[in-house]
Amino acid sequence: MSKTRNYKFDKIEICRNCLGMGVVDSLLPFTTKQCPVCEGSGRVDKTTEITITVEPHREG
Ligand SMILES: [Zn+2]
Repeated sequence: MSKTRNYKFDKIEICRNCLGMGVVDSLLPFTTKQCPVCEGSGRVDKTTEITITVEPHREG
């Protein structure tokens, strides 16, 4: 018989794409555009899901 456990972590992190600024440099000089990753909020929700399966060890 095997046993499965699920863990889920929700975490708010600073957006790495814009370094928390909410905007990124656009192709035009001296202009910025909204960061597409965090949609301008400067932060992202990160969800980590881990599944652990435990089962009997069988030799061979
Ligand atoms: Zn961003």
